[in-house]
Order: sequence, then C-alpha cells, then structure tokens
Amino acid sequence: MKISIRSMIQAPPNKVLIAFDLSQAESWIVAFRSNERNMKQALLYGDIHTETAGNALFHANTGCPHTWNIKIKGEIWACPLCELEVTKLMRYVGKRYNHASAYRMGAERAAQVINKDSDKPPYFTVTVKQSKVFSESWHSYYNLKPWWYNIEEQLNRTRTITTVYGRTRMFFKQWGNELFKEATAYEPQSTVGDHFNGMVQPDLNIKGGLREVYLQLVKPYDDHRVINQSHDSAILEVPKSIAPDLFDPIKKLMMRPLVINNEEFTIPVDVEWGERWSEMEKVA
Ligand SMILES: [Zn+2]
Repeated sequence: MKISIRSMIQAPPNKVLIAFDLSQAESWIVAFRSNERNMKQALLYGDIHTETAGNALFHANTGCPHTWNIKIKGEIWACPLCELEVTKLMRYVGKRYNHASAYRMGAERAAQVINKDSDKPPYFTVTVKQSKVFSESWHSYYNLKPWWYNIEEQLNRTRTITTVYGRTRMFFKQWGNELFKEATAYEPQSTVGDHFNGMVQPDLNIKGGLREVYLQLVKPYDDHRVINQSHDSAILEVPKSIAPDLFDPIKKLMMRPLVINNEEFTIPVDVEWGERWSEMEKVA
C-alpha cells in the first residue's frame, strides 16, 4: 500500500503549515523567453492547461478565438462563442503535453511518460500515433522553434547559456538532441529557482522571494520555521493564531516582477494552509 509522504507531515499542536508556490512558473519563463504570443496570452488571461486542451489539441482551427469559461467547476469549461467544451480529461491531456513539449520531448517519449501514469486517475493512455498528433498540434499552436534555434546558435558559438539572472552554464554533452534538451530546460528551471529563492535582478533591484520571507517573517520570531523548500515552493510552520496575518506579506514578497526580453511580468503565487501537508486549503 502506498501512503503519501505529504500525509505524514503534520504541524505540532497550536501550529499550522503555510505552503506557497509559484504558479506554472517554468511556463512563464518559456513564454516570455521565446516571446510566444499564444502562451503569454494563455498565462495572462486564462488557465494554460485548459487553453492548450481547447485551442491547441481538441478544438484547433475552428475559426473561433475561444475563451474558456467554467461551466462545472473543475469538470467542464465552455466557449461562449462556439459552445464547444473542454472536459477535465482534455485538460489533463493539455497539461501533460505542456510539460512534455517545451523542452523538446518527442511524441514517442511523451506517450511513454503519460502511459506510465495510466494506473492513476484519470487512467488515460495514448498510442504513439495519437501522441504524434497531439505533439504536432501543440507545436503548431505554440511556436517555440525560433527560441530553440537561438539556443542551438548560442551553443554552437560558446557552448554556454546565460540566464536572465546572469547565471552562466557551460554544456559538455556531445552535439545533438540530448544536448539541446538539456540546454533548453536550463534557463527556465534555473531561473525559477533563483526567482523563488530571492535573487535580485540588477535592472529591477526588487528584493523578495523566500530569502526575504525568511528575513522578515521567520527569522525574527522563535516560533516560526521554514520546514521545506523545493524548487518553486516552500512551507512555513507558524503559530495557528497569527497565520492569517502572514498570507498577504508572503504574497507581496513572492510576487515580484521579472524582466525578460525587455518585457516585465509577474508570476502568480498560490498560498495554502492547513495542519497536514496533504490536506491544505487554498487561501483566497
Ligand atoms: Zn469557441
């Protein structure tokens, strides 16, 4: 029997956990780095997985500039213009191809990865043939090729990629697709970590991130602790009575702008709280 690790992480008496994370963080970096119009649009005005499911995978080329409104919460989204619908399962497929496609995962590998999870809800499987169709549809809606080409050019010139936070990495892999994949994932993944943890962009000079949450909201108090940090999320343990007072300050410190390609944007932050990590409730 599998028991989730999260269900074992529980706050001590009179304490509570506050978890916060950057929402779709890597997609934001990909969208603005590649200057991909549809992806930016989806992140700014909608839910990216629903947008992908509706506009790229299941209802593409209908001539309708779909917008997806909630019809049944968490179950069905509908376009008020053409009345087509996106179901929860379609959104799941959208999510899987969003995660697979930005960093050059091929359709065959995507099918493998998705089918590996088919023993869990929503028990979805895909054939290689279907996966190729989904993958092609994804790439005709989101055009990342110019960004990818740019990465190959940079590798060819210097073998290095430098992120928007000024972090440079040299790549030693043999020339080819595996190298390109690694280099493509590098900036979004590295930047999300730096942004979350509190690195300061020189042109903006705005402090924030987990570093400031720690310095301002945790360190001065004996009974506040950071108990987890993982890539784009963290968990604090604080006295139950004062927890709600921290929601806004946390949001304020975590939601700071970032500039890529001279364009400023802010990755949204989700905050949750609860006594047990597996049973957290979203803060409005
Ligand atoms: Zn429509």
